[in-house]
Amino acid sequence: ASRQIINFAPGPAKLPEEVLQKAQDELCNYNKTGVSVMELSHRSSDFTKIINNAENGLRDLLNIPQNYKVLFMQGGGNGQFSAVPLNLMNLKEGSTADYIVTGSWSAKAAKEADKYGKVNMVLPKQEDYIGIPDQCMWNLNPGASYVYYCANETIHGVEFHDIPETNGVPLVCDMSSNILSRPVDISKFGVIYAGAQKNIGCAGVTLVIIRDDLLGHAMPVCPVIFDYKIQAGNNSCYNTPPTFSIYIMGLVFKWLKAQGGAQAMAKLNQRKASMIYDLVDNSNGFYVSPVDVKSRSFMNIPIRIKNGDEHLEKIFLDEALKQDMIQLKGHRSVGGIRVSLYNAITMTETEKLAVFMTKFRNNHQ
Ligand code: PMP
Repeated sequence: ASRQIINFAPGPAKLPEEVLQKAQDELCNYNKTGVSVMELSHRSSDFTKIINNAENGLRDLLNIPQNYKVLFMQGGGNGQFSAVPLNLMNLKEGSTADYIVTGSWSAKAAKEADKYGKVNMVLPKQEDYIGIPDQCMWNLNPGASYVYYCANETIHGVEFHDIPETNGVPLVCDMSSNILSRPVDISKFGVIYAGAQKNIGCAGVTLVIIRDDLLGHAMPVCPVIFDYKIQAGNNSCYNTPPTFSIYIMGLVFKWLKAQGGAQAMAKLNQRKASMIYDLVDNSNGFYVSPVDVKSRSFMNIPIRIKNGDEHLEKIFLDEALKQDMIQLKGHRSVGGIRVSLYNAITMTETEKLAVFMTKFRNNHQ
């Protein structure tokens, strides 16, 4: 039976119903072990199969080249804000890193990196994050240890639709809110990381994909659990990994494969996002999406009603709730509405929202 609530949350976000069902079926007795995945030793052969399956599922979905390692870490996106500089800042003499700041998450990452070395801001400081300045305006430092960016700013709805050119400087990318929403050429990256709780699972595990020549450069002060080389050398089991979250991630990868993989997701996500953007753009200014059309996110769509009429926005949220549509509120730092359309959100669910938005506009214009 399908769940009635439509969960447009930015993360933790909706999981595919098939994944939840499968986890429920196996919850108390995993693979005839008589125990739950949560109760399995992380050194058991059953769990080793779970983690290897998750890794292989990901490698298959993203065509990850052999010279890349896949790590399952803890500490979330914020953990990686530190792990990245701790592992890579010393790659080159001078310990400088380039940060392309296009929203709150990349801004936080830059702030954290500043504790460990010199941060060069690639873009001029922006008042509002509503787009990505043309690459001819970027101030990239050819001597930087790495270039960092966030592929999709979850709060501001700013997404890179192209991969930045760094002329050989390792590229580090936070893909927390758009990983596997589309195909991506892994070979263009030094490091990709992503918290699981939006597109690929539940909170607790953070995926890291790293080119192997970037292992082994951690600063001496790097905490052992954040050392990419140590995690890579121990199949992500140096310490007890988040076993259940890894299991759920593996189920999501299996589900994604059955849906047609990243290519199929890209098509679906584009259709879903276009439906909402078209509705916004054709609403005569009733709904406004502040982001530059070229950089609009397919995953998170921030919307203001009547240029930020908070009273009307509250009515919108209340009425949506009555229709079982939850978590449409914009982030507290920006207000308004935010529609998150991760992989698990179906076309039918998106259509229901579109119908609601059209009716709401007709009633309140
Ligand atoms: N990066 C992005 C793009 C995010 O959306 C988030 C969380 N919403 C984070 C990093 C921080 O992740 P965490 O809460 O797991 O630390």
